This record gives sequence, structure tokens and C-alpha cells, in this order.
Amino acid sequence: MNYKDLPQVDKILNLSRFKNAIKAILSKFAREILSEQRELLKAEKTCLNADEIIEKIAHKYEKFQKQELSKVINATGVVMHTNLARSVIDEEILARAKDSICAYSTLEYDLNSGKRSNRYDYVGTLLASLFECEDAIVVNNNASAVFLVLNTFAKGGETIVSRGELVEIGGSFRVPSVMQSSGTKLCEVGTTNKTHFYDYENAINDDTKMLLKVHRSNFALVGFSQSVDIQAISDLAKKRNLIAYYDLGSGYVGELGYNLGKDEPNIAKIMQSGVNLLSFSGDKLFGSVQAGIILGKKELIAKIRSNQLLRMLRVDKITLALLCETAKAYLNKEFSLITTPNLINKSLAELEKMANLINSKLNRPLRVIKTSSFVGGGSLPNKSYPSLALKVDGNAIKNEEIFRANRIIGRIENDAFLLDLRSILQGDIAELIQKINQIQE
Ligand SMILES: *Cc1c(COP(=O)(O)O)cnc(C)c1O
Repeated sequence: MNYKDLPQVDKILNLSRFKNAIKAILSKFAREILSEQRELLKAEKTCLNADEIIEKIAHKYEKFQKQELSKVINATGVVMHTNLARSVIDEEILARAKDSICAYSTLEYDLNSGKRSNRYDYVGTLLASLFECEDAIVVNNNASAVFLVLNTFAKGGETIVSRGELVEIGGSFRVPSVMQSSGTKLCEVGTTNKTHFYDYENAINDDTKMLLKVHRSNFALVGFSQSVDIQAISDLAKKRNLIAYYDLGSGYVGELGYNLGKDEPNIAKIMQSGVNLLSFSGDKLFGSVQAGIILGKKELIAKIRSNQLLRMLRVDKITLALLCETAKAYLNKEFSLITTPNLINKSLAELEKMANLINSKLNRPLRVIKTSSFVGGGSLPNKSYPSLALKVDGNAIKNEEIFRANRIIGRIENDAFLLDLRSILQGDIAELIQKINQIQE
């Protein structure tokens, strides 16, 4: 191998195998790999031949391309899979939002007066109506909602939280750290397993600004345990002239014809406790885009609106357009447009129908087995849902890899690779059938 035998970048870029590649990226990778080879030649070490060099570039490019945000089929059974983008936006919701995204819009313009308006007014009215509260505002995600609420109302003072609720969610959200960075002092009360009403009562002092309740979201406290419900916390806050705030995390809309968290009240019910502020994620059980939705009394939401930090955490027109369409679908009772709760509530009979349909079109039908799946996304911990799965015969680890290479993400259970039907979208069935047939050829 000689310097002059190294393949030229231009020639590499023109190879037919790279015809769909982003040339700027491919060229960068080619230069990097060629320069490594030149260094090897210079040091009189063995270097790769031309074919091997091209293979290496192709491999690097493929690895890069797989990092692209792109569609997969979720056959994990986990409906709100944090790594697979949590909630799915229905195509009809997207279609309805499209006009205001692909054109100039009234984001901050009032058609009534021809003057400037506020981007939060319309969505605020929709959400306030849906959740039967005075007002609402939307920020980037629920983590920012928590940060903003604490910063607006408890900065420089103390916030009381139960030790049983100092949770970590998804690695980067830890209640104590968020509290610290918001500027409030954490006042922990109770013990890991038990917090009593008197713990809150006794901890209140002149510096106390807020009583915070955090939904445990991704774990459950069972056995010898006790916590104080939002009603009691809200009553205490009212009596002592403090703010009660509930970081609900997920939460669901009571409007739906079914009851998702049988042990948990819906959001409108929780608001009836008199809690001053409540926040939750737009893309968990609510089933819309990433956002943090804050509900509360009008004067408190007004204070949040005037916090300078809101500008840093604000949502753009794409988020607002999609969120408004979801809220409108709830208000108009078009529940079929809200994917997440629909998947969670699919009956076993519906899943069985789906399994039979898939099997009727597979060249080699798969065994249908009973299993159970979790909702995921930090919601309804410990609550597993009965589900059905297609079991793929053979080595589970190999199968997982093969299906993953085909963008089908399943799960391994008891040494078998499963395609859990609970999280598979109706619109993905045809593609799934075609791919399974191809894999099993
Ligand atoms: C999920 C969750 C958060 C974080 O919400 P994001 O929308 O992911 O930022 C905060 N608090 C609780 C209790 C949660 O469940």
C-alpha cells in the first residue's frame, strides 16, 4: 500500500452505494479515515487496502445514519416508552395543526384588535375549561414547570416536601436538585416510608412559602407506609396562607369514557381539592406533545406569566398548535384521536383480533402468548396491564438484534423474544407483517 493507492475522496463520494448519503458528512468521515491511514503509512505500519477503507467509511456512515430521529415500531408493550418518544401524535391532530405551522400565524397577534396578543391566552382557556380550573399556562416540559413554579413562588424561602416524595425521574430530574436550582430551600419532612399530617404542620415557619406534593410516578411505596393526600395539604396551605403545589407528573383527563388509574383521581378531581397549582407533562398520559402544563388560580398563573424565566422556558408555535388540537379533541370528545390512552385501554379482545389478523397474513404464523406490560413514562407505577404478544422462536438475543435492525423494537422475556401487541399502532400493522415475513424467509 502506497499513498497514491489510497482511494480519493471524490471517487468515494461518487460510489453508487453512497448515492443517498449526505455528501458533506460522508466526505468528513472519508477524510478522517484517510488521514488515519496516511498516518499509519507514515509510521510504516500496515494500513487497510482500498476496499477495506471504503467498508470502514460505509460502516461509520451507517452508524451515523442510525442516530437519526426516525420511525420505529414499538413492540415493547410499554405504551409511553421514554426512549421511544413517549406519546404518538395522531395524523389527524397533525393535519389540523399544520396550517398554523407552515404559514405565518397569530402566535402573538390579536385578530380582534390588530394588536399584539399573548401566546398563552387561547391554550389557557382550552385547558382551564378541560380541567375545570381558573387558568393555565404551558412551558417546555414538566421539569421546567416545576422549576418555574418553585422559582416564582418559593425562591428565597422554604418549600416543604415529604421524604417519601424526593424522587428521581429518568435520571436527569431529581426533586432535591431541581428545588435547589430554583432557589428555594428544601425542607424535608417525615421519613422514607411514612409522612404524617403533623410533619407538615410542625415544619411550617416564617420562611415557609410552599407545600409541595410530588407524584412518585415511577415507583410505589407499599407495606408499612403513609402519606398525606392533596386535600389535606391544600387545606393546610389555605389555613396557613401558603401555596399548595402538586407536581402530578402524568395524570389523566377525566373526560375520557374510561378510568385509567383506578386508584387515582383524574386531574379535574384533584383540582377540586383546592390545590393552588398543579403541573403535569403534555406527552405522558395526556397523549400530546412534550410540554409542561401548569393549572391554577388566575392570580397565580398571572405571576408565572410575569416571571422573566418564562421567556427561557416558553413553547413555540409547533408545540402550541399540537397541544391546542389535542385539548380541542378532548373537549369535543374525539377521543379516538388521542393515541396514548387508547392504547392503554385496548381490551384483550381487541388485541386478540389484532394478533389473529397479523397471523392470518404471516407465511409462518407466530404463537400468541398471554403476558403483561407496563404503561411506562413514569406513570402508574406497579400497575401492569394484561397484554398479548407474538412469540418469535429461536435465540432471543439474536432475534432482538435482527428485529432491531428492521426497526422493530420488542422485548425479551423468559428467554424469548416477544412482540407485545399493546403498544403496536394500528397504522403499523401492514409494515410489521411485511417485515416479519421478510425476516422469516
Ligand atoms: C415525568 C415527571 C417529571 C418530568 O416531566 P418532563 O415532562 O419529563 O419534564 C416531573 N415530575 C414528575 C412527578 C414526573 O412524573
